[in-house]
Amino acid sequence: MVPTTRSQSRSQQEDPSSDSEGESVYDYTPIVAPSKLAYSLSNLDEDSRDSVIDTFSEPPRLSLKAYASREQYAVFEVEGLATYEIRTGAEDSHFAFPTCTCGAQEKPCGHIIWLFDQLASQSLTNKGQTLTMTNQGYAAQLGRPFAKLTDFHIDMFVDSLHYSPADNPSPRRVQETREILASLNDTPVDEYRPDLVGGPGEEGEIINRGDLEKTVFSMLLRNNDFFLYFLSLMPSDEVINNRFRRLEQRASAAFEGLDAYAANPALWAARSPKNVAWCAAHLALVLDQVSAAIQTAAAPPEPWEQRAAARTVMRVLEGVVERAGDVGPAEPLLPRGQRNLFFCLIGDEDRGFAVGVLDQLPPAVLAPWLDRLAAVEARVLSRGVPPSYLENLRSLIARVRGSASSSPSSFAAAGAKRSGHGNDRRAKRMK
Ligand SMILES: [Zn+2]
Repeated sequence: MVPTTRSQSRSQQEDPSSDSEGESVYDYTPIVAPSKLAYSLSNLDEDSRDSVIDTFSEPPRLSLKAYASREQYAVFEVEGLATYEIRTGAEDSHFAFPTCTCGAQEKPCGHIIWLFDQLASQSLTNKGQTLTMTNQGYAAQLGRPFAKLTDFHIDMFVDSLHYSPADNPSPRRVQETREILASLNDTPVDEYRPDLVGGPGEEGEIINRGDLEKTVFSMLLRNNDFFLYFLSLMPSDEVINNRFRRLEQRASAAFEGLDAYAANPALWAARSPKNVAWCAAHLALVLDQVSAAIQTAAAPPEPWEQRAAARTVMRVLEGVVERAGDVGPAEPLLPRGQRNLFFCLIGDEDRGFAVGVLDQLPPAVLAPWLDRLAAVEARVLSRGVPPSYLENLRSLIARVRGSASSSPSSFAAAGAKRSGHGNDRRAKRMK
């Protein structure tokens, strides 16, 4: 992880392969290359020797991209998959401005620009506004990137970048991998190869003789490049490459974070706790991003996108209505809006929470959710809510009910069926 080269560590005499005179065991014994061939380094000067040791110890990930054969010479274009480290920190740290180990002369480098563009796309709502790029390679609207990252929480951020450790695939990677393969098989995710989860598929050998699907499954779990390549080629649909679904996943992660915080007092004193304020900020951001995606879309959203947007907003609304209890420390007693998620977002004042976004969708899209909207109304009523909020919720429900009764019943039935799970389209195709 730390970019100390072999030669650096040798000079610091931490390397067991060197002795106090700066000599190396490789002065006397051959070094074995990744090709398994052994090379004697005894004829090399120190710099050359270090370079060979560095290269063979941590082989660069290179592949041949192109070649050309000329009369007098040949050309090989070698493509590298180098890794770099970007650091960003608090204002009083050494990394108030982001740094990167690529050593690019031009500042800022492409790695920094890419990373903070990702952070901006997750943490800011794209309403078509123009961001201001700074000389440091990130949008001025991020404020101090490290503070933004701390508020957002780094685990939420890296999850959205499809990060998954190779040796211990994240639950999300396992799920997304199943979704990709189920989609290719035209099989509903729930029915697809249950033997591939929680079993040897996740932990065992990557190569599974006689089982190509399991082999590909293992590769997708462990190799980020392969996974991202696969994902990039999959067409968008209800399940795969669905931006609303990604927002729904982030909302779920926010609820999970708050639930874990509520259940474990040891987390209450964390430097940036996943408390009510944090969860509420994430949920508000998710709804803001759903709303902006509907409103600023170049083309009207596809029906499946509208369904996905409705599902995301409903999950957020139901999740908040379910969480009307106080969480966190009793001492010191925080204001109610900081210890009660429902009160913070709905009960305290009418912010049009979730209802304002549902209003942007055609009522017919919400028809499958009619019963659950009515259940939300009943629970909201029992918890206490500003009258105007209740009024708006009720008029939304009335519109949805009107659309359900005015449209052919087959539509509502099909919609209800669809809302059950995201794979209905495929399930239908299977029949
Ligand atoms: Zn760089």
